[in-house]
Amino acid sequence: MGKIVRALSEDGSVLCSAIDSTDIVREMAELHGASQAVTAALGRLATAASIMGAMLKYEGDRLTIRINGGGVCGTLTAVADYRGNVKCSVIDPRADAASVEELVGKDGSLTVIKDMGLKEPYCGQIPLVSGNIAQEITAYYSISEQLPTVCNMGTLFDENGKVTSAIGYMVQVVPPVSEKSIQVLEENLSRMSGISEMLQQKQKPEDISLAALSGLGGEILDSWEAVYHCDCSRERTEEILCSLGKKEIARLIEEQEETEVCCHFCNKKYKFSADDLMRLLKV
Ligand SMILES: [Zn+2]
Repeated sequence: MGKIVRALSEDGSVLCSAIDSTDIVREMAELHGASQAVTAALGRLATAASIMGAMLKYEGDRLTIRINGGGVCGTLTAVADYRGNVKCSVIDPRADAASVEELVGKDGSLTVIKDMGLKEPYCGQIPLVSGNIAQEITAYYSISEQLPTVCNMGTLFDENGKVTSAIGYMVQVVPPVSEKSIQVLEENLSRMSGISEMLQQKQKPEDISLAALSGLGGEILDSWEAVYHCDCSRERTEEILCSLGKKEIARLIEEQEETEVCCHFCNKKYKFSADDLMRLLKV
């Protein structure tokens, strides 16, 4: 289970969310058969999406982050619900590169979609600057939401390339905030270990949250478990097939005895016989 911990400063202006996303990243790597480089990149994105999803207010709210950087792994996508449960996908899970930045690429954009049950979902998009996922998300908050944010995510591997641990945190400042609080926060952030050291030192989400809010009267606000979760189903897959249109379904019936639809988020395969598809044509 992943564990999300949120802490708030005494004056309510600084929020730190931290997550131990080890199990989430492990399951993601296994489901996708991901290379170590993809696990590192998609793990960061899943960790950030989980934290950002947990900031949504209502059940049914959903957040999607998409990075399309032109790198060798293709587009990366992570979708989280309001409890930080997350699923993700990537075009080529076995892609390899010397660094996350190279794998992701920097010629493209980062898109955040928040579906909060309104007529139109909120959509913010920024051009990529470095391919460093934490930097891109920080830039997104600064440009698109005018919300000063510091975040970092990382994954540690053993000598066989298996995920040992994964963590992430995000600190946000909500105005009005005093100069003094900003100064204390900046000192805290500069004193905190880098993400690799945090992983090596096995720092817990509670430790990270309270370290960020040290001297600001920070207290743990809430904490709960989040998991890798795909909500696909046969019914939803049928809806997707129907959305292709009757002409396309008729073509599938003609061309193959059985149509297999694979979920990009969990690799579950749904099989449809020609008879199943005929039934969909009549809907
Ligand atoms: Zn699925």
